[in-house]
Amino acid sequence: MVHKNWPRPFQYFRDVRTFLLTISVVVTVGIAVIYLFRYHAVNELLIQTVRHEAESFAQLIVLTRHWNAEYGGVYVEKRPGVTSNPYLKELGIDPDIRTADGRILTMRNPAIMTREISQLARRDNMAEFHMVSLKSLNPENRPDDFEKRSLERFERGERDIWQIERSGEKPIFRYILPLVTEESCLPCHGKQGYRIGDIRGGVSVIIPAAGLMSRMSTNRNNIIIDAVITIGVLLAILYLFAWKLVVRLEDVQERLKHLAVTDELTELKNRRYIMEQVEREYQRAVRTGTPLSLVLIDIDHFKKVNDTFGHAFGDAVLKAVARDMRESLRTYDLLGRIGGEEFLIASPGSTLEEAAALAERIKEKIREKTIANKDHSISVTVSAGVTSLSGQDMQADSMLARVDDALYQAKQGGRDRVVTA
Ligand code: GH3
Ligand code: MG
Ligand code: MG
Repeated sequence: MVHKNWPRPFQYFRDVRTFLLTISVVVTVGIAVIYLFRYHAVNELLIQTVRHEAESFAQLIVLTRHWNAEYGGVYVEKRPGVTSNPYLKELGIDPDIRTADGRILTMRNPAIMTREISQLARRDNMAEFHMVSLKSLNPENRPDDFEKRSLERFERGERDIWQIERSGEKPIFRYILPLVTEESCLPCHGKQGYRIGDIRGGVSVIIPAAGLMSRMSTNRNNIIIDAVITIGVLLAILYLFAWKLVVRLEDVQERLKHLAVTDELTELKNRRYIMEQVEREYQRAVRTGTPLSLVLIDIDHFKKVNDTFGHAFGDAVLKAVARDMRESLRTYDLLGRIGGEEFLIASPGSTLEEAAALAERIKEKIREKTIANKDHSISVTVSAGVTSLSGQDMQADSMLARVDDALYQAKQGGRDRVVTA
């Protein structure tokens, strides 16, 4: 089937088209999947980098708290602006002490120290962090939704919990490091029922994620560009080769078609083709009521030419006669070699008289021609039978029989002549 909207070579070869479409889909999907994996792998690396940053930050906080707790809290001088930690009183600890020289020192336990470092970090635009706990002493340490969920997941044994939030004005990366109860925590937190090894909260860290998001989107764009280029180049190469192959196949197909209808020696149409055309022209002439004539031409005493000058020279004569006949035809006339030295012309639109005149012209042209090679030089004559479609013809075969008979009459009548029937 011919598909007019396909590029010319692809109009014909359905298998090539199916192959190309299939392989295009396979290549496109395959490359897309490969690049999707790469996209996720690179994103994962980018996220892990930020996660490590958050984790280090949180671990540093845990370390300083640890340091503080090991001393059971440290004392700072209560200068103007320095307040006592109110939650210590609730635990029954007096935060303030007076030195011998009259200065007042107040205790900085891990909780307040962390809060103060957190304020400093926020002031200096570093990562934000704070402590969270499900059983918080300080209402400021109450967890939000993400933190609450994370703490619950810690209790189920999960670790490494993070989340990117894009809902706010700027995207943020959130991370929570679990806080495990150690011996030094017990003086304060033992009263809440914690034992060593319990998770009593976490260090919640917030890192601005704009940089991460932009690196992720650059990664996405690069991957898309890479994938499109890769797919494009592969498909272009594939289509180029397929195109070349199809053009070549088409050439071969054309050549085979030509060979199938052509007589090798004379390059005229062969018997099968001309007979098909006679049948077709017969149908058309009957349908349209237009004339159709047939001319059957046979070289006289051709056997003698072969016998006297050799088969090769005989071939040269056949070629020369074929050329003369071809040159005498009108555009619509059809000419074929139907036997050894026998030729048939179908002349649509020609009356018997016009066809007889054509046969006469051909006969004269051939007779006047000398056919020569370096050894011999001869002339040949031809005999021709001519007939036209009549009302009695019920099929093309009856015309063919009549034209054959006319040729026979021409031979019987002494050859070198045209007989109409
Ligand atoms: P007539 O005038 O009655 O037609 O006599 P003729 O000799 O032409 O007829 P005949 O049918 O006896 O001989 C035809 C010869 O054509 C026989 C065969 O050797 C020769 N022939 C057929 N095909 C070819 C061909 O392809 N090449 C050559 N050189 N000769 C061919
Ligand atoms: Mg002959
Ligand atoms: Mg013959």
